[in-house]
Amino acid sequence: SAPKTLLEIKDLTSHYGRIQALHGISIEIKEGELVALVGANGAGKSTLLRTISGIQPMSGGSINFNGQDLAVVSADKRVFAGISQVPEGRQVFGPMSVEDNIRLGAYSRKDSAEIAADMEKMYDLFPILRQKCKQAAGTLSGGQQQMLAMARALMVRPKLLLLDEPSMGLAPLLIEEIFNVVKRLKKEGMTIFLVEQNAAQALSLADRGYVLETGHVVLSGPGKVLLNDDKVKAAYLGM
Ligand code: ATP
Repeated sequence: SAPKTLLEIKDLTSHYGRIQALHGISIEIKEGELVALVGANGAGKSTLLRTISGIQPMSGGSINFNGQDLAVVSADKRVFAGISQVPEGRQVFGPMSVEDNIRLGAYSRKDSAEIAADMEKMYDLFPILRQKCKQAAGTLSGGQQQMLAMARALMVRPKLLLLDEPSMGLAPLLIEEIFNVVKRLKKEGMTIFLVEQNAAQALSLADRGYVLETGHVVLSGPGKVLLNDDKVKAAYLGM
């Protein structure tokens, strides 16, 4: 049977005071899909992710997740529902150990044996975090903090993983490492919404993509099709 729709956004609008950041966004993500969202600085990518996780209020339209209307669901309840976001700029807790940061991601769960098993999984996914598990998170490099933020988000056992610019500020080798993990998660069946300025890499990995411009979706389609679109090439791939 066809995969079911996990996230359905219709005519979504969002404002910062009187400034409208999202102008009627409609987006759909099916179970198991990796969907990329690309666009220039200020296009509204982070705003869209934050309306999904509930940190940013919506002013119109609807967000349906797993059959549930999110309009009346608070941000913390959305985590319980299975939405986990890796925020832009990582936001790990610097003075806390790597281990404690990862464990923090499991706060919505009570299954301690499975939490321990999932921590082992995170250390398999990101071996450097095992080596540094007792260190303060603030002492990690930018790339390692990105891995830590991803591990923390995965401890939720999310149905939908929201990744906001995971490659930002990282050296090419680390970017590759992060994208390899994204590939592996996809292979394991995780549904992922990936926001990236690094449009070429994001679209080549994605099943489908959306292009956002000043709060509007201006293009959508299979990742490979967008990658070969002349407008996308000119605007986002520097060609
Ligand atoms: P970036 O990659 O720079 O984060 P983005 O595509 O994620 O860009 P957003 O951060 O979502 O874009 O911003 C969308 C619009 O909303 C921009 O015009 C921005 O100036 C505005 N905006 C974002 N945050 C705020 C805020 N806290 N107050 C007022 N306006 C904001």
